[in-house]
Amino acid sequence: MINYISTRGSKDIKNAAQAVIQGISHDKGLFVPDSMPKLSEKLKDMASKSYQEIALSVIKSFFTDYTDEELKTCVYGAYDEKFEAKEIVPIVKAGDAFFLELYHGRTAAFKDMALSILPYLMTTAMKKEKEDKKIVILTATSGDTGKAALEGFADVPNTEIIVFFPNEGVSQVQERQMVTQEGKNTHVFAIKGNFDDAQTGVKKIFNDDSFAEELAKIGCKLSSANSINIGRLIPQVAYYVYAYCKLLEKGEITEGEKINIVVPTGNFGNILAAYYAKQMGVPVAKLICASNENKVLTDFINTGVYDIRREFYLTNSPSMDILISSNLERLLYHLSGGNGAEISALMESLDKEKNYEVNSEIKQGLRDFYGGFANIEETNETIGNMYNNNGYLMDTHTAVAYKVYEDYKKETKDETVTIIASTASAYKFADSVASSIGMAAEEDGFAYVEALNKKTGVSVPAGLKGLKDKEILHTGVVDKDALKEAVKKSLK
Ligand SMILES: *Cc1c(COP(=O)(O)O)cnc(C)c1O
Repeated sequence: MINYISTRGSKDIKNAAQAVIQGISHDKGLFVPDSMPKLSEKLKDMASKSYQEIALSVIKSFFTDYTDEELKTCVYGAYDEKFEAKEIVPIVKAGDAFFLELYHGRTAAFKDMALSILPYLMTTAMKKEKEDKKIVILTATSGDTGKAALEGFADVPNTEIIVFFPNEGVSQVQERQMVTQEGKNTHVFAIKGNFDDAQTGVKKIFNDDSFAEELAKIGCKLSSANSINIGRLIPQVAYYVYAYCKLLEKGEITEGEKINIVVPTGNFGNILAAYYAKQMGVPVAKLICASNENKVLTDFINTGVYDIRREFYLTNSPSMDILISSNLERLLYHLSGGNGAEISALMESLDKEKNYEVNSEIKQGLRDFYGGFANIEETNETIGNMYNNNGYLMDTHTAVAYKVYEDYKKETKDETVTIIASTASAYKFADSVASSIGMAAEEDGFAYVEALNKKTGVSVPAGLKGLKDKEILHTGVVDKDALKEAVKKSLK
């Protein structure tokens, strides 16, 4: 039986269902499993299994209070024809790496991997826990989470979904995907500010006890679809286990052989899932954390000092334009040997002093990781080179990861088989991708999608087709201090 406890050390012990509903612990910490389950079968014996079978087995190991039947409904409901790839997560070799294409869901970004199952896990949890309140999902987005959460929760009974996106920083296509969202329970607002403003604002609401009471009176309860929710993190572990199985099945690696995993990182959720996969028993050598110019994590991995007193850049990989990577807190907790008091002190220092330095025990643990970054120019050049040399199209985030991998290889001469987490369709960032492969300028983001399709022949994800002509249904813009009012208005 695995329980979920807070990274900040209070005795807030929950089962998985309770942790999924609550989202974040009462002491502001994040829920983590109180022990790390091991893979229930040998990887060799799982090698030929389907994505759904592997996901079921991985999630079952963590969410022990859900029954087999419940999890089956969740997994098979989530990973179905919504995904445009039959295998759900294709693995494509290009250049000297394997690309784990996580973006074949409805919104064409890897967030669909978790957000297509989270509503199932959440509504199942509500039934299990006899939760009678309406669950209000509150989400801050740097672009991709918002749409994936909206798609996941649209018209799910007894839920409302409210999304805040920064009016500075999301791409035209990303914005249009969100403001055209249908569904009676969907609410979308632009906030005047950047992603950190949005995330800080949403966290403030979660920590506001009197607001929670106010909502309880109207029969509502807040929860989160951000990657702080354990119900998002755990399903992501599955695709790293799956990737290892498929490399084994194809004979690209032999049993027990270690692989590297490169992840373009923002909030640290995706790479943390890879770390969990390693803890479960997947043979992983290096976890390579790739950042754009907002390279807080690169510096942190190299020095043990996390310092956000720096300039914030808007880049062409907006889902990584983040200075405060929430899920890092979970890694620190694990590396500290479960020292909640220590993590609490670090997070307080981050809040007040805008920086912290970890102790030597945690620094030691960080050696499993390699941190690197790529700027906009390098990102674009990498997209161009990959397309010209191998005919493979990468989006900007994936290109950041690949560039950091190239740097890593140059530096270390490490020839270990490597997986690159490919986190978005190139069409989501069609303007940057098109100019990177030498195409002429177009009028708007939508024209770029068409032009890129003509030139490359790569098919356009269904969710991005016809976006330009869809009706705009959400027009709200709010100050970064006025999120609460927006929430109240949405629930009227
Ligand atoms: C969210 C996102 C990331 C960052 O993932 P984290 O789990 O927040 O580190 C990278 N690329 C894309 C395309 C994303 O949408």
